[in-house]
Amino acid sequence: MNQVRPSAPQLAGLEPYDPKYLPARALLSANENPHDVDEDVRRAVMRELGRLPLNRYPDPLANDLRDLIAEANGLGREQVLVGNGGDELLFNLALAWGGPGRTFLNLPPTFSVYDANARLTNTTVANVPRLPDFSIDEDAVLARVAEGDIDYLVVTSPNNPTGKLADEAFLYALLEATDALVMVDEAYFEFSRMTMRPALEQHENLVILRTFSKAFSLAGVRLGYLLGNAAVISEFVKVRQPYSVDAVSQAVARVVYANRAKFEPGITAIIAERQRVFESLKKIPGVTPFPSDANYVLFRLDRAAEAWQALYESGILVRDFSRAPMLEGCLRVSIGSPEENDAFLAALRDFEMGGKPA
Ligand code: PMP
Repeated sequence: MNQVRPSAPQLAGLEPYDPKYLPARALLSANENPHDVDEDVRRAVMRELGRLPLNRYPDPLANDLRDLIAEANGLGREQVLVGNGGDELLFNLALAWGGPGRTFLNLPPTFSVYDANARLTNTTVANVPRLPDFSIDEDAVLARVAEGDIDYLVVTSPNNPTGKLADEAFLYALLEATDALVMVDEAYFEFSRMTMRPALEQHENLVILRTFSKAFSLAGVRLGYLLGNAAVISEFVKVRQPYSVDAVSQAVARVVYANRAKFEPGITAIIAERQRVFESLKKIPGVTPFPSDANYVLFRLDRAAEAWQALYESGILVRDFSRAPMLEGCLRVSIGSPEENDAFLAALRDFEMGGKPA
């Protein structure tokens, strides 16, 4: 048999993205919503799906959904773009603003997909690591963009997996300081209730990423969107796959978005549970949780990999970052239902204290 010639050189050493999803009683590893869409919304989704012509291609740009999102955000259709999950739009970012001879500024530790997309597209990666408390090294970022070679950067706010929002005044200063495209990744915005949306009018170089996967319980459907200025969105339109958002996903997302007020109580409950989980983690000796504005809490402890295993054996799946650079000893727990959170806290207490009351 003939051998195949090597794949593109930038693939050497790249690890495929692995969510490390395993079956478990409490799935607290992927920052999903613990509650599926409610019965009323599900019935409305089914009615909408019943009307879909499956033999026809979908609207490539999902204009009906775009219009709904645009209107809710006080924008026009040409300032919104939907994608096959936020992930697709992150890849499109690297295609449109990265490439050979271009440079991406990353702020690790953060979502690993940004770095992977830059490498896939032969984009140079410049790193400004976060400070020990995981806040952004603001002076270093401003100094780095002042060098003038950065083509795009992503500021994740709240940051995944560390949890905190970026400072608003810093984001404005950054937008002023550079003509690089600044993506603010607001995948967890509904849990922080803070957005850079008001800055769009004044800053052509701002683009905001959001997703239906978290607050709107649609991780299984794959729907993300951008808010940006028309000149930026039109560049994303050039690189996107024409039919990446299929008719079924468009229909589900339209119904869910039209019913988004119904998701508010669930979001409020997750925010309250986040506080409870954080305070409870603080009381477990040897465990240091980091404050969070999202639907997960990162925490550090000795013997983190062993703790992950003990939790898993108790039926609780959390995300192990303990071997990731700058996240040594850290695990991340997504906020689940109150019962799941209780089971997680009890199992962790058991591991740390052998069942002694905190
Ligand atoms: N950005 C961040 C920071 C995320 O954590 C995620 C999901 N893990 C995404 C973007 C992409 O989400 P999705 O593709 O499900 O829309």
